[in-house]
Amino acid sequence: MSDECFSFETKLLHNRHKFDVTTGGVSVPIQHASTFHQSSFDKYGKYDYSRSLNPTREALEEQIAELEGGVRGFAFASGMAAISTAFLLLSKGDHVVITEDVYGGTFRIVTQVLSRFGIEHTFVDMTNLQAVKDAIQPNTKVFYVETPSNPLLKVTDIEAISQLAKAHNAYTFVDNTFLTPALQKPLELGADVVLHSATKFLSGHSDVVAGLAVVKDEELGNQLAFLQNSFGAVLGVQDAWLVMRGLKTLSVRLEQSVTNASKLANYLKDHPLVKNVYYPGLSDHPQYELQKKQAKSAGAVLSFELESEELTKFFVENVKIPVFAVSLGAVESILSYPAKMSHGAMPKNEREKRGISNSLLRLSVGLEHVDDLIADFSNALSNAIAVVK
Ligand SMILES: *Cc1c(COP(=O)(O)O)cnc(C)c1O
Repeated sequence: MSDECFSFETKLLHNRHKFDVTTGGVSVPIQHASTFHQSSFDKYGKYDYSRSLNPTREALEEQIAELEGGVRGFAFASGMAAISTAFLLLSKGDHVVITEDVYGGTFRIVTQVLSRFGIEHTFVDMTNLQAVKDAIQPNTKVFYVETPSNPLLKVTDIEAISQLAKAHNAYTFVDNTFLTPALQKPLELGADVVLHSATKFLSGHSDVVAGLAVVKDEELGNQLAFLQNSFGAVLGVQDAWLVMRGLKTLSVRLEQSVTNASKLANYLKDHPLVKNVYYPGLSDHPQYELQKKQAKSAGAVLSFELESEELTKFFVENVKIPVFAVSLGAVESILSYPAKMSHGAMPKNEREKRGISNSLLRLSVGLEHVDDLIADFSNALSNAIAVVK
């Protein structure tokens, strides 16, 4: 049986890097060397300098490429380093059509950095294909998708956007942080570049900051390799190892978190103090069918809006289990406040235009027992009723 036919779960553990060929060690060795001795005067080995290529980082790069179904992977110092480096594929005068409820850091680089280098952008609601078509310009080179989006969990049709992009000779970039290749494979749906904050589900333990990119085209891979080496925002070897350790349990972690998230979403949906629940696994979510079609499940992140900001504050101060923090995709549940955290970099009017109100909370569901989470939420909400009344 070749590795090719292994299922995703098996590939997480059994791949070319399952043991070190020199010692048999069942963990990828951490190669700290920055430089590599060359034994010939003028014929050099594969490795020469660790910014360009390092065997530990390379092991992670090969693993993510295989898991996403691509030909080449790249590891960066953070998700933003991966995203920023991918944007360097563009040149002055190019234009990006980008989803409007994009990650706050991506919003920042597009509006405040790329704009200074003459790279233009148009934000659109990517769930509306007509709006996407209307935003296309002769110089559009990239369609930038994040699905489900952050924090409102809107779902974009990756296949439809990729077809539009191809028809206009443009690339499709997909930020796959929320679902990971365990649940969604953008390259198979036609995307050209998949991007990750590996800080989140891929590593999964809130203990490393990392970013990944994967392409399915060799030529695009060469260009990105050139940019990774030129820009130099590579992932360190200890951190590459931590991401690989996290990857081994990706499937089981997600399975549990998704089950919990779905139960919590259903609980919140029926609670009288909860105004809205945003979760693509709920049958009344506007893109419920699309999510079912293009991904294996709805993921482990949901958002919900309470009746007022006062109530939201009270709830956060009273809920005990989740950590109240930025970030997501960890073994522990993480509750965050998008208006002040992930989208703090976005001006208030832009935020409100996108429906990110001061009563919106985002929850990344972890591995706790779901009954404990529901009891905790229930308690915080019923205390809140008493106070707010
Ligand atoms: C966190 C995140 C990023 C940025 O990644 P860092 O590792 O924090 O640089 C990008 N996109 C999404 C969807 C994220 O959640």
